[in-house]
Amino acid sequence: MVLVAIDVDSTLHDYWEQFRQAAALLHGVDLPYEDQTDWAVDALSRHQLAAVIEHTHDDTRISEALPYEGAADVINGWRRSGHFVLITTHRRPDAHDVTARWLGDHGIGFDALRCGYEKVIHCQEVGAHVLIDDSPTNLTAALAAGLTPATIAHPWNAELSAREPAIVIADDWAALAERLAERHPELASS
Ligand SMILES: [Mg+2]
Repeated sequence: MVLVAIDVDSTLHDYWEQFRQAAALLHGVDLPYEDQTDWAVDALSRHQLAAVIEHTHDDTRISEALPYEGAADVINGWRRSGHFVLITTHRRPDAHDVTARWLGDHGIGFDALRCGYEKVIHCQEVGAHVLIDDSPTNLTAALAAGLTPATIAHPWNAELSAREPAIVIADDWAALAERLAERHPELASS
């Protein structure tokens, strides 16, 4: 059994577009996806950033998101093969129910769902083998903790992934599943 931990925003759906719209609406700042080659959002102050994140994580915005193509098929296939799927997101803890509803509405099965911080520490505590997460901070921490870090390719994790071949990276979920199966043969689709 492989325990696969999976982030939500920018891992299961196109979060940046929601983030960009909120930054424009609340602060009049445009944040093109292709220019975001760093994790830091320099154009926003800490308070502005917090407001944008809060805006994107209200129930309506969470419910409106559309999952990336192939994500549900890959995740459900892993679960059918007996692997354990932990959805783990830095969304506020009380976003748990709306996040669970969103996953259910889009047919994404899971065994556990956690909304909260200290993601990689929690992954270690529960014995996760893989963390799929777009954040360079989480990818680096997962690697240091002995997990297999994996991500959908985004401008903000391209440089780290190029530098660190242990990070599994792919443009979409189908390719990511194939590359992960090279590291964890049990995850190969049967
Ligand atoms: Mg994310």
